[in-house]
Amino acid sequence: MQSLNYLTLDKDVRQVRPADVQALAERISGGVITAADAAYEEARKIWNAGVDRRPALIARCMNEADVQAALAFARAQRMLVSVRGGGHHIAGNAVGEGALVLDMSGMRGVEVDAARRTARVQPGALLGDFDRAAQAHGLATPLGINSTTGVAGLTLGGGFGWLSRKYGLSVDNLTGATVVTPDGQVRTASAQSEPELFWAIRGGGGNFGVVTAFDFRLHPVGPEVYAGLVVYPFAQAAKVLRAWRDFTTEAPDELSVWTVLRKAPPLPFLPASSHGQDVVVFALMHCGSVEAGERAAAPVLQFGDMLGSHLGPTPYAGFQTAFDPLLAPGSRNYWKSHNFSRIDDAALDRMMEAATSAPGPECEIFVAQLGGAMGRVGAAETPFVGRDARYIMNVHGRWADPADDAKVRDWARRTFTQLAPHATGNGYVNFLTEDEGERVAASYGQNYARLQQAKRRFDPDNMLRLNLNIEPAAAPAGKGAS
Ligand SMILES: Cc1cc2nc3c(=O)[nH]c(=O)nc-3n(C[C@H](O)[C@H](O)[C@H](O)COP(=O)(O)OP(=O)(O)OC[C@H]3O[C@@H](n4cnc5c(N)ncnc54)[C@H](O)[C@@H]3O)c2cc1C
Repeated sequence: MQSLNYLTLDKDVRQVRPADVQALAERISGGVITAADAAYEEARKIWNAGVDRRPALIARCMNEADVQAALAFARAQRMLVSVRGGGHHIAGNAVGEGALVLDMSGMRGVEVDAARRTARVQPGALLGDFDRAAQAHGLATPLGINSTTGVAGLTLGGGFGWLSRKYGLSVDNLTGATVVTPDGQVRTASAQSEPELFWAIRGGGGNFGVVTAFDFRLHPVGPEVYAGLVVYPFAQAAKVLRAWRDFTTEAPDELSVWTVLRKAPPLPFLPASSHGQDVVVFALMHCGSVEAGERAAAPVLQFGDMLGSHLGPTPYAGFQTAFDPLLAPGSRNYWKSHNFSRIDDAALDRMMEAATSAPGPECEIFVAQLGGAMGRVGAAETPFVGRDARYIMNVHGRWADPADDAKVRDWARRTFTQLAPHATGNGYVNFLTEDEGERVAASYGQNYARLQQAKRRFDPDNMLRLNLNIEPAAAPAGKGAS
């Protein structure tokens, strides 16, 4: 084997000796992949095809000892480290150029204790793995809306989905975690044990250690819920979006109604003449009884003269996969996101303008309705400061041809800038792109200083820096890190 180039924490290029790679490979249960291996191309692929990075080594971790061995190797070599869960983050930090990737995707176990209504989840589990296991017992916890997203990254950044208005964010349902910190220690983080680490990982991302297990609280959901889509022609956008905005201020916590402004996909319940035309989509789910859901959602059908609807009793786990085809891996993606505490008419007008000027058929303006239980948690109780966000907008730039990179990115950035005066100023770290490092501090607002202290305590050398990075607080003059 040839010597391998890698990048150090100081951004130097160094070589790792084949004998050292061999020694590492012998300690990692799932093996180590390099560019010389046939598995390398597939193993370095992530959801966002716009990110194309070539790591030096990919360590397929299957347990805590593997993570400890990989971190020890990186420490000894001063090697950059990235951590991969489901590989969905838009910024693509799961795979670092010239880095050692700790690939957790082989650890997909989900163990449900139905009597206690808890689940222990391994860090490579996808939302679909979790939903299937929990729904076998009629249970669930708030996670995202796309079954191929990783539980790990989503939870570490906050995590919201159809259940968040009723049961809070993913982090509000996290009761503990096992974390291997960069010094190699395996720590149990919970309200009773390592409470500061437990606080930091509930929104502070992968900045503090590598999580090898997540413990969640579960809730009875489904197995059938009332859910589906209602679609209006774009000519009625001003009217139906205002009706939606007013309706969402009153809706019960069980009901979440999200809107998407985009070109109509060829859905069978829509007239063929509307396919490919601009439309306003309302996607909704009610997590209570099907009858209560039908009653609560009825006004959404009355916002205007709809093009079509597909609403009714649906298995919860099935609805969690409903948007997978629109969010399949393999496209180039560039997103820009804002939090809103309210959406005024001018903001709706800007969103409509952006939708009609979208540079491609897969580009869309997406707005999730939040509030409810997630908004009743104090802003300092977890790092997720945006508790006043009643809506999170994402400008989804999505395209296939690299020649369109600049066009789509410009559209997303322009839309973001136009909507900034209407937004809260916080952001959601799980939606930040690779060029938004400067938004990290603002996204955490008043919680950032405490996160920096936690970073100094658990990762003083900022070994875990290939992420939405929180810089360690400076050591007090004359002192090392505590
Ligand atoms: C199609 C799509 C739909 C989405 N829908 C939602 C949604 O409904 N709700 C929502 O809240 N978010 C949503 N997101 C955003 C999502 O929360 C983030 O992309 C999240 O980071 C995905 O987690 P992952 O494990 O798949 O990502 P990865 O890219 O694997 O990980 C992201 C980062 O998390 C850290 N990390 C991952 N695993 C570990 C670990 N074990 N230990 C320490 N650090 C780790 C690393 O820093 C890594 O760079 C969506 C994203 C996509 C692409």
